[in-house]
Amino acid sequence: MPLRQRLRIVTYLTRQKLARKDKFPLIVELEPLFACNLKCAGCGKIQEPAAMLKQRMPVEQALAAIEESGAPMVSIAGGESLMHPQIDVIVRELIKRKIYVFLCTNALLIPKKIDKFTPSRYFAWAVHIDGLAERHDASVCKEGVFDEAIAAIKECQRRGFRVTTNSTFFTTDSPQSVIDVLNYLNDDLKVDQMMISPAYAYERAPDQEHFLGVTETRELFRKAFAGGNRKRWRLNHSPMFLDFLEGKTDFGCTAWGIPSYSLKGWQRPCYLMGDSYAKTYHELITETDWDSYGRGKDPRCANCMAHCGYEPSAVLATMGSLRESLRAIRNA
Ligand code: SF4
Ligand code: SF4
Repeated sequence: MPLRQRLRIVTYLTRQKLARKDKFPLIVELEPLFACNLKCAGCGKIQEPAAMLKQRMPVEQALAAIEESGAPMVSIAGGESLMHPQIDVIVRELIKRKIYVFLCTNALLIPKKIDKFTPSRYFAWAVHIDGLAERHDASVCKEGVFDEAIAAIKECQRRGFRVTTNSTFFTTDSPQSVIDVLNYLNDDLKVDQMMISPAYAYERAPDQEHFLGVTETRELFRKAFAGGNRKRWRLNHSPMFLDFLEGKTDFGCTAWGIPSYSLKGWQRPCYLMGDSYAKTYHELITETDWDSYGRGKDPRCANCMAHCGYEPSAVLATMGSLRESLRAIRNA
């Protein structure tokens, strides 16, 4: 993260610690719609009923939810966030409140919508790129999407926007395919930062065969990170989360750290599973049996190493250790 953003997050975390709050949001996943203009085989969001796919969250509702949570950062996803007719208003209002916004998108609508956005230190695009051309187009089940996404990223960079990417990996990936895409994004495209994730095995995703297990995930990232790659890549994750991905350490799930708010309410327990929904953030935090979720506790969590469950654990572990805090500062 840029220094100013990092300082703001450290200040926020220190305040939570001083206030002895044991549960607080690091970032909220906001889903103001479920509809999308793609149909990726590994997607667990676009299978909602047609009536739900037509709905768009009112701006006031989105802002009220984020304000109630008190989160310093918001990641707006969906569905395809740019299909929301007032997405620019939501972004602008969040920025006005000095909340850092990552706008997740498959990039297809960026050329049509980019004029509605202005570069800001509080704003970054987070473009979905799962691999180089052939691999990415296979992942999103449509030819030509990679080329359109890259052209859109270049236009965002030309206009002075901060651009990050989000890559999800499946069993169809190899250490080399991970290296290829991250080298390209880091060295050729020179995006500001990259996020990576093993795909979560959504029960409703049409493709159930290609989700990584824990051992496969650790092996994939250990091999991909070797030879100095991990140090060289501008990965937007804490060092301890990267240690976790490659199996050097392990954590319990702290899904309350990255809660998810959608058209249905606050999702329990996390962005990936929807056991039930709370009306308010307070209700989500106080009335969820958090101890019953995570690997070893719920069979649906068995293969999950997603950042929404484990990045907050890594951040908390970093905050609790002077040695790890110094390493995070050194690696930043
Ligand atoms: S682009 Fe994202 S939201 Fe749209 S279908 Fe693919 S994974 Fe789902
Ligand atoms: S391990 Fe945590 S983040 Fe992953 S699916 Fe289970 S509750 Fe969600």
